[in-house]
Amino acid sequence: MSLVVVGSMAFDAIETPFGKSDKIIGGAGTYIAFCSTYFTPVKQISVVGGDFPEDELDELSKRNVCLEGVQIKKDEKTFFWSGRYHMDMNSRDTLVTELNVLGDFKPIVPESYQDCEFLMLGNLAPAVQLSVIEQLKNKPKLIALDTMNFWMEVAMDDLKKVLEKIDVLIINDSEARQLSGDYSIVRAAKKIMTMGPKYLVIKKGEHGALLFHENNVFVAPALPLEDVFDPTGAGDTFAGGFIGHLAKTKDISFENMKTAIIVGSAMASFCVEKFGTERLRNLSKDAIAERINEFVQLVHFDVSLV
Ligand code: AMP
Repeated sequence: MSLVVVGSMAFDAIETPFGKSDKIIGGAGTYIAFCSTYFTPVKQISVVGGDFPEDELDELSKRNVCLEGVQIKKDEKTFFWSGRYHMDMNSRDTLVTELNVLGDFKPIVPESYQDCEFLMLGNLAPAVQLSVIEQLKNKPKLIALDTMNFWMEVAMDDLKKVLEKIDVLIINDSEARQLSGDYSIVRAAKKIMTMGPKYLVIKKGEHGALLFHENNVFVAPALPLEDVFDPTGAGDTFAGGFIGHLAKTKDISFENMKTAIIVGSAMASFCVEKFGTERLRNLSKDAIAERINEFVQLVHFDVSLV
């Protein structure tokens, strides 16, 4: 039984008000994999070009990421994305998107991945996400999906089809408003949960995240950080922590999903402390436990009503 992760593996070039990176390793699938393997082994599905460094693939393998489902197109180039953050670090402009190998990506699910119990579909074309679900012979215990406004604009019909087949949708507040056509987050959540997913996670950046299921709502804070160095991949890291915790514990109750949201938030708070995937490569179990505990302290209070 395993966690299968589908997502882009990329070169990124990032500009923030505090610095600028050259081409560094990025991609939604890369961030999810780096994060999830702190909790459980990962079976990765992605595509890279011949220019993707072999030592980076080795690094992922060493961390318990199975790469049998990662296609290497020797004569083509890896997906490239470049972005520039504004002063508030919450908004960014995409400067360059070169799809390269991602342009005609047809994922192939290896036979050894058919034991998939947890499936994390990172932000990719909805048709690609759907193709992975359709190749699985047995329905996984839980399917989570991340998407973005771009796909709502260019592939809404495909997105609606894949939403019908998933259990948890993870999006940010503006995407929830766009998908539902409703400005109220609570009404938006209710509408989205009629489109397929029974659970909905709405991320609100530095203001935390909400988990919706039927009439239940759980609110998790984000850790107030003095310095945010680079928010790239924070959403993917959140998803990696969320699904990693669920896959490790094999418990998909609402109560355990609350813990998973806190784990995801804690992992995302590490991600933003350095450029790219750097911070996610050097975490100890103690540092993760300590950070999760900081979240517990953050929201803990006693009330005595007289
Ligand atoms: P996030 O900051 O969580 O939105 O994720 C940023 C990561 O997503 C970067 O590492 C990019 O390489 C990757 N990315 C950006 N645009 C796309 C896209 N259209 N398809 C797949 N991955 C993308």
